[in-house]
Amino acid sequence: MSDRSFLSWPFLEERHALLHDRVEAWAKAHASMMHGEDDTGATAGRVVRRLVAEMGKEGLLATATGGRDGALTGALDARSLCICREVLARYSGLADFAFAMQGLGTGAISLFGTDEQKARYLPAVARGEVLAAFALSEQAAGSDVSALAMTATKDGDGWRLDGEKTWISNAGIADLYVVFARTGEAPGARGLSAFIVEASAPGFAVSQTIDLIAPHPIGKLALDGVRVTRRDMIAEGGRGFAVAMGTLDVFRTTVGAAALGFARRAMDEAVSHALRRKLFGGTLSDLQLTKAKIADMAVAIDAAALLVYRSAWTKDVKGARVSRESAMAKLVATEEAQTVIDSAVQIFGGLGVTRGNIAETLYREIRALRIYEGATEVQKVVIAGRVLADAASWNREACTQDRRILRHTPPTSVWCIVEVPARCQQRDRDRSAWLLSLSPDLAPAAANHRDAANRMLQ
Ligand SMILES: Cc1cc2nc3c(=O)[nH]c(=O)nc-3n(C[C@H](O)[C@H](O)[C@H](O)COP(=O)(O)OP(=O)(O)OC[C@H]3O[C@@H](n4cnc5c(N)ncnc54)[C@H](O)[C@@H]3O)c2cc1C
Repeated sequence: MSDRSFLSWPFLEERHALLHDRVEAWAKAHASMMHGEDDTGATAGRVVRRLVAEMGKEGLLATATGGRDGALTGALDARSLCICREVLARYSGLADFAFAMQGLGTGAISLFGTDEQKARYLPAVARGEVLAAFALSEQAAGSDVSALAMTATKDGDGWRLDGEKTWISNAGIADLYVVFARTGEAPGARGLSAFIVEASAPGFAVSQTIDLIAPHPIGKLALDGVRVTRRDMIAEGGRGFAVAMGTLDVFRTTVGAAALGFARRAMDEAVSHALRRKLFGGTLSDLQLTKAKIADMAVAIDAAALLVYRSAWTKDVKGARVSRESAMAKLVATEEAQTVIDSAVQIFGGLGVTRGNIAETLYREIRALRIYEGATEVQKVVIAGRVLADAASWNREACTQDRRILRHTPPTSVWCIVEVPARCQQRDRDRSAWLLSLSPDLAPAAANHRDAANRMLQ
C-alpha cells in the first residue's frame, strides 16, 4: 500500500481521489499483462498495444484526451493526467508509457487543434483504437529545437514533408504522428509548424528501431515527400515552436508524476525489505543509517509531489502558462526519483543489482526521464530564464514608478526632463535624466507628460 496522504492536499479535488482509486483498481487487476516475456523493444511494443486496447475499453484513456464524466474528449486536466501516470508508474513503466503517449501524442491537437481535428482523432485515441506519437526530435535537434531541419515545402494547396526524426516513442506502432517541420516563416524556432501525419501516408516510413535500457517502442522516422494539407496543420504556420512548448508545459509536469510513481514504488519495496531482512540480531530497518535513508526518501518524495501537483493545479485552476512550474516539477521529481531508487538498490544489497529485481528494474526505468522532454539542464535554463525575465520586468516597473518629471513646459512647446532613479541608471544607458519631446496633443499636465515619457522609455 502506497502513501495516499497527498490526495487530501488542497491542490486536488474529490474527483482526483476517485480517479486515483479507479486507476489503482484497474492496475491491480491487470498487473499480469503489464510486462512482456522478455526485455526487448518488439515485446514492449506488443505489450503497449494490448495495454492501450484494455485501457481504452475501460475508459481510462479519456483522461489522456481531456475526457471527464463519461465524455471522451474535453479540456486537458493536468492533475488527472498526473494522477493516472503516478499510479500506473507504480505498477509498470510500460503501463505508464502506454497511457502517457496517448496524451503526449495528441496533446498538440487537444490544446491547439481545430474542432474538426479533435473530432477526427481524439475519440478513437480515447477508445484505444488509434495509437499516437509526438515527433519533434532529430539527430541534430534534441535539446536545441531551433536547429530542426525537417522541411515542409509549399506544394499546391498543402506542403510536402522531407527529412528524418529520431527518438520517436511509439514509432512503428503509432497510427498518427504530430510532426514538427520547418516552414520558414522566420529563422530558427519561429519558422516551424506542426502537422498531423498518418502512418499510412505515402512516403512515411519507420527507418530504424532503437533498443533502450528499459525497452519501450521507439525509433527513427524517414519522411520522403509526405503530403499534408491545411486540414492537417495544427495552429497557424510558424507557430510550431509555441505548439511544441505549450504541449510540453503540460506533459513535463506529468513526467514528474511518473517519476514520483517510480520513486514511491522504490520506497515501498525498500521499506518492506528493510522490515523483513534480518541483520546484526535485528532487522535492517532497526539500523540508524537505514532510517536516515528512509527519511531522505520520504522527504524527497513529498517535495517532488508538492512541485508536481502545484504545477498541475496552476495549469488547471489559474489557466496560466506554467513553463517555470512544470520545469521545476520535472527537474526535482526526476532527479529525486533517481536518488530514491538508488537508495532502494542499496537497501536491497546484492538483490538490488540482480536482473528482474524491482529495484533494478526501476533503476533502469527512471534514467531516461532525466533526459527526454527536456534534459535536466534544459529545465534549469527554462527556470533561470523565467526568474531573470520576471526580475527584469519588476525592475522595469519599479523604475517606471520612480521616474520623476524635473521640468515640463506646457502648454506650447511640449518637452520634459525626466529624472532617472540612481538604481535604474544602468538600465537607462547610464543617464541620470532624459530630455524628451512629446506629442503636441498631450494635455499640459505633468502626470500626462510622465506617462508619455514612461511609455517612450519602456
Ligand atoms: C527514452 C526516450 C524517449 C524519447 N521520446 C521522444 C518522443 O516521443 N518524441 C520526441 O520528439 N523526442 C523524444 N525523445 C528525445 C528527447 O527529447 C531528446 O533525447 C532530448 O531532448 C535530448 O536531446 P539529445 O538526445 O539530442 O541530446 P543533446 O541535445 O545532444 O543533449 C545532450 C546533453 O547535453 C546536456 N545539455 C542540453 N542542453 C544543455 C544546456 N543548455 N547546458 C548544458 N548542458 C546541456 C544535457 O545533459 C543533455 O542530456 C526521447 C528520448 C529518449 C531518451
